[in-house]
Amino acid sequence: MDLKNSLTSFDIFHPLTYYIPIIYFITRVLENFTNTSNFWTKVWNKIVDINDDDYTFKLYGTIIYTSLIYWIVGLLYFSMDVTQKPKSFRKYKTQPDANEPLDYKKILLALPLVLFNQLILNPIVTCIFVTIGRKTLSSAHIRYTTSFQQLMIDIIVYQLIYEACFYYAHRLFHHKYFYAKIHKVHHKFTAPVSLMATYAHPIEHIFANMLPIVIPISLLKLPISTSWIVMTLTTIATLGDHSGYHLPFLHSPQFHDWHHAKFSECYGAMGILDKFHGTSKNFEKAINSIRHRTIFSMKSVVELYPDDLIEKSNIEAKNSENKKIQ
Ligand SMILES: [Zn+2]
Ligand SMILES: [Zn+2]
Repeated sequence: MDLKNSLTSFDIFHPLTYYIPIIYFITRVLENFTNTSNFWTKVWNKIVDINDDDYTFKLYGTIIYTSLIYWIVGLLYFSMDVTQKPKSFRKYKTQPDANEPLDYKKILLALPLVLFNQLILNPIVTCIFVTIGRKTLSSAHIRYTTSFQQLMIDIIVYQLIYEACFYYAHRLFHHKYFYAKIHKVHHKFTAPVSLMATYAHPIEHIFANMLPIVIPISLLKLPISTSWIVMTLTTIATLGDHSGYHLPFLHSPQFHDWHHAKFSECYGAMGILDKFHGTSKNFEKAINSIRHRTIFSMKSVVELYPDDLIEKSNIEAKNSENKKIQ
């Protein structure tokens, strides 16, 4: 029986890391056929054409773009919770029957804080970083797009630095002093809802949600075009992690879902530091860790890896050991 015990790169890095080279390859093939070139650079230039003032584009462009990603993707997940449709997607729920139906009172009570973080705090922090960033952020022209090879290196290194920042900030918020005063808010949802991903105390939103994105962007001096790509990756990953759905071809939410269900394990986003610090031991023993993978099938992880899988594999292992002894 195929039971994996360790993390594979597909569980660690976001699937977008693998889809970008595929998209790049398809684009190159199509460019060859149509005798054109630099398709994505042209697309980026069209976006910059909307307003090519450096400061305005970096500030307002980033605020508008990241908000659009958050609300469009978040509302898509949320519409599945509200309508309970499509029916065929119900099997992808990480915690079956949870949020069925949604607790609208809880959502309405949480919404003002989500709106504050998204519509007020995000623009303020972005404004501070773009303004002081004239010195710390990349000085590359807003029209600059990096090479494909550099883009891939940047995406991988960004995720590793993000993991370190997020893991330690998040773990600190689980110290009993900070937990009671700050992080408890975010854990009100034991079965998370995508749109409520940034339902967090404003201090946590700055230190655990925004800084882990800003720090690698500043350290790596990423140009604005690459910054938007990594911000898309993290936003989609965060919304997926809190969606309650383990959909095919997308990043597995099992790790963070376990964190919300159990509180005291799985603090990181990728799982590397949890493995290193031994803070995912119970998760690793559970069926959830076997299910923690990007699935390339329309079957759900429960269908692929049923609840009694661990039990069955233990029996199989015992039987084969007995045969060896005989
Ligand atoms: Zn937590
Ligand atoms: Zn969370």
